[in-house]
Amino acid sequence: MEIKEYKLEIIKIIDEAIEVKTFRVKREKDMEFYAGQFFMVSLEDDPKLQRAYSIASSPDNKEYVDITVTLVGKFTHKLFECKLGDYLMFKGPYGKFYFEDDMKNNLVLIGGGCGIAALMGITRYCKSKNLPNNIKLLYSSKTPEHIVYRKELEKLNEERDNFDYIQTITRPKPEHNWNGRTGRIDEDMIKENIEEGSLYFLCGPVEFVKGVISTLEKLGIKKEQIRTDIWG
Ligand SMILES: Cc1cc2nc3c(=O)[nH]c(=O)nc-3n(C[C@H](O)[C@H](O)[C@H](O)COP(=O)(O)OP(=O)(O)OC[C@H]3O[C@@H](n4cnc5c(N)ncnc54)[C@H](O)[C@@H]3O)c2cc1C
Repeated sequence: MEIKEYKLEIIKIIDEAIEVKTFRVKREKDMEFYAGQFFMVSLEDDPKLQRAYSIASSPDNKEYVDITVTLVGKFTHKLFECKLGDYLMFKGPYGKFYFEDDMKNNLVLIGGGCGIAALMGITRYCKSKNLPNNIKLLYSSKTPEHIVYRKELEKLNEERDNFDYIQTITRPKPEHNWNGRTGRIDEDMIKENIEEGSLYFLCGPVEFVKGVISTLEKLGIKKEQIRTDIWG
């Protein structure tokens, strides 16, 4: 797809989790991308300071585009000061980490932290087009308060027969009252969700993705079945 630049108005800001916000911008008519791809984003008054953000909304949604961002350092502190009506500059789309309609395989989506954003783009797209691919989403967060899109994921899990959401928490404390799975996404968790011929989409920080790749390889998953989006 052709790389283009856009100036897009912020129309909604959503508090998703601890230090995580979604910035929703109005979509331009000629803005094209595949589910899972990313754009380089900058602020109007500082075009040189730009960072990559996955598109979390479905490419099918022509009204708006969402990016979901964790507060970290230089750029994100400035972004978190933005208000409704401010503009963001988007350049893209970029990346080979994407889902296309002709992928008929079942999907295993594995995300850590804000890596869920690209996987949510794929999930929302498959839902919006009512595609038959079975999706298993394995998601690792520090605490229950760090789970991004929790309500939407739980709803999808209940409503859609071909969508399974499996959450794990890596830093549980008694006050969280978390009765679900704990610990990292490990061999057992992946083994339970492996299906013959699935495609694996991995997204998150570098150490997370590396760890999951080595587990998948140990389990005999071929390189061609694995797509990765590595941050940092
Ligand atoms: C393909 C791709 C897609 C991405 N998609 C997303 C996405 O959807 N959502 C998302 O949130 N990010 C995403 N990222 C990461 C994003 O591009 C930025 O790197 C991130 O937002 C940090 O930018 P920053 O300027 O705020 O941090 P920087 O100032 O660039 O800091 C970078 C690093 O310095 C350290 N650091 C700096 N300040 C602090 C601090 N106060 N506390 C702790 N550590 C600190 C951290 O190690 C941090 O990783 C993506 C990256 C890539 C490559």
